Amino acid sequence: MLILQPAPAPECMLTGRPTRTLLGGISALVGIEGGTLRIPTMINRREFLSAAVALPHIRDASKPAEMRGDWFRKQPRVFLLDFQLPDPLDQGAPGMPHFLKNLDPEKIVGQVTSAGASALLVHAKCNQGNAYYNTKVGHKHSDLGDRDLMAEFSRQCRKRGLTILYYVQLARDRRSFDYPERRAINASGQPVLLRRDNPLLASREERPVVCLNGPHRQYIKDILTELVRNYDFDGFWLDGYNWWGRVIPCFCEACRRSYKRDTGEEIPRGPLYTTEAGKRYLRWRRRLNTLILRELIELVHSLNPRLTVTHNGSALGPLSDWDFCDSDDYVSHEYHFNEGYGNLSLLCRKQWALKPSAPFEIEIWRFADRLGGTRATSRSYQVRSADALLTEMASVVANGGFPQYYDQIKPDGAIEAKSLEALTPAFREVAARQPWARVGKPIPYAAILWSKTTEGFAPADSQALHRDGLAGCFHALLESHVPVAVISERDAAASRWDGAVVVILDAAECLPEDCARALEQFVKQGGGLVATHRSSLRDGDGNLLNNFRLSELLGADFSGMTEKWYSYINPEKHHPVTAGLTLDFPICVEETLQTRVRAHAGTQALGTIINPLPGFHMGYPPHERTEAPALLVRNHGKGRVIYVAAPLGAVYYRWNHFDYKRLIANATEWAAGCPPPVWARAPHTVEMTAWRDEQARRTVIHLVNRTGAGLPSAEAGLMHEVIPVWGIEVYLDARYAGAVVKSQPSGRVLAARRDNRGLTIRIERLDVWEVLEIA
Ligand SMILES: [Zn+2]
Repeated sequence: MLILQPAPAPECMLTGRPTRTLLGGISALVGIEGGTLRIPTMINRREFLSAAVALPHIRDASKPAEMRGDWFRKQPRVFLLDFQLPDPLDQGAPGMPHFLKNLDPEKIVGQVTSAGASALLVHAKCNQGNAYYNTKVGHKHSDLGDRDLMAEFSRQCRKRGLTILYYVQLARDRRSFDYPERRAINASGQPVLLRRDNPLLASREERPVVCLNGPHRQYIKDILTELVRNYDFDGFWLDGYNWWGRVIPCFCEACRRSYKRDTGEEIPRGPLYTTEAGKRYLRWRRRLNTLILRELIELVHSLNPRLTVTHNGSALGPLSDWDFCDSDDYVSHEYHFNEGYGNLSLLCRKQWALKPSAPFEIEIWRFADRLGGTRATSRSYQVRSADALLTEMASVVANGGFPQYYDQIKPDGAIEAKSLEALTPAFREVAARQPWARVGKPIPYAAILWSKTTEGFAPADSQALHRDGLAGCFHALLESHVPVAVISERDAAASRWDGAVVVILDAAECLPEDCARALEQFVKQGGGLVATHRSSLRDGDGNLLNNFRLSELLGADFSGMTEKWYSYINPEKHHPVTAGLTLDFPICVEETLQTRVRAHAGTQALGTIINPLPGFHMGYPPHERTEAPALLVRNHGKGRVIYVAAPLGAVYYRWNHFDYKRLIANATEWAAGCPPPVWARAPHTVEMTAWRDEQARRTVIHLVNRTGAGLPSAEAGLMHEVIPVWGIEVYLDARYAGAVVKSQPSGRVLAARRDNRGLTIRIERLDVWEVLEIA
């Protein structure tokens, strides 16, 4: 074992400059300034709590230093070459060969360049805890001998003008886990070591998790520091924060001591989401996650402000606040095909919501590996087809991001030739269309509120309902080819609607007060609101209220829940919201409850709740009509409001019937008070994104055909072929129309029909990706 002892780490999680920023509160407790440990300045518990909960909502608080590299703003294509190689010296199984014998950085950089990549991301320190360079603080992979891969790759990339990035694994580290004091500890007092050790597997897979709040963090800082000081490269891609980030709580000694110091209390061992003590811990932990990530990124920037830094995983989990990604120069997230193409688009819109000021990166895998899902995580080796790769990359670029191709080095140190064969045509098509990517801003219309407060502070069932509700509303509108964005609570609270004319809250049970006030103003001034189920029934701390916080806006008072699953929405009145549905033919909401509400005067009920028949053993047919309204509409100020008693988006996401989709699309359009400014007549498997560059007075529309990949809501199958779609029509409002429509990159002029409303463009055949430029 060649690991050196790490430098002593601070006892608490808090280093960095104290207090003057929004991170205030807990960052004042203890810190390192100029490398010297400061004496802790204790703040009392009340100060800590008020600092933690009263954080202002500031979007994108990080200001990129002027010197920062801007390669990620230049439509890059990244190639991640993954090394996660055990060292045969002390980590291998008997009979394991020596690795990397054919490793040739010059050849690899040439291959990656020829495949069309503009950036190479290589491993500096992997999840086995092995380094691939001459390290003084870590363990260098012994099969490298005297070679230093960081130096070699950097030299080769510089020669060819390729951006060079280094991978460092943060929290899943087999070597660091050998130190008991670095291990993350679960509630049973056991180290967190996730294992797949089925005897049928060729080797046991271990995922040991170390705590970033303890001494392991100093080790990571030492790795980052020596890389910055000794190598010529462009940025870091930090992986695996969430391996520890989602260990909730971590009971290691460092965590227990810092929690006691910050709050005067022990880390709670009971339920988290339903108790005051639990919520206190969650708030603390959300701040801690932001602070630690920020500390690592600021360290890099302080040593070399030119380097970019991001981390995989962004802020999707409930254990992060909105500012979790503010220190990243851009946000990044991996994607796996079994998540489905609807969820790929949703992932893109969430990345946008986290950091609208910078392009985001999505990792597209070479392998047909699954992550989670109904068949669990899997590892494969085959290469996915160029069409599958292109379809996913097209979706990423159409949504304003850039692709990262994920490949693994062969154990002998070469790249798999078949992988390059599949990638090359996909990257070529991406490169050809990138000049029309992220042009201006997305054309606005509907925005769905993403409530991290609900994801973090509501009871578990409600968290899941909101997660699925956001996804279901998004899919319904995506499939209806209506412009739809995801909006963060902090943007909503600051009334940064970005031109949206209707906002959707699906089962957003916790609603912070500033969001509630902003929504009231939004509707008063003419915006539309679609709200469902228990939205706003809890405050921003997760406390249950007696009535909806938005009851005046919704025109309804909460009076309880239906008692059984399989109740019904019965549409009863002709109205644009019920158009296309059969009146008095009830719509089952399956295994969800509905809210029972009392409507205020002036609020119109379009339908009621029907209870299911008890005692029947093959289904639960509609039985008893209640007086409880299922659909309510009203005008408020200059705006329109719809309230739906069922969590419509979640019901659509889980059960997929098109009646729910129709209701979501109808409700959105009626509340908006106007039709979408751009939409398409196309199958629901075609994705449309629309962009407007007001300065250049041009509109760009991307159409991506995902028909070969199965339905987006279900867990998806592997895409096998391109299934062309014929005769698509795109409609464009007059304000976004121009004189000439061109298909890009060919520049071919397309015929368009004009009337007093706008422009109709016909696309005869769509294979994977069509770009329309209208100017
Ligand atoms: Zn810990």
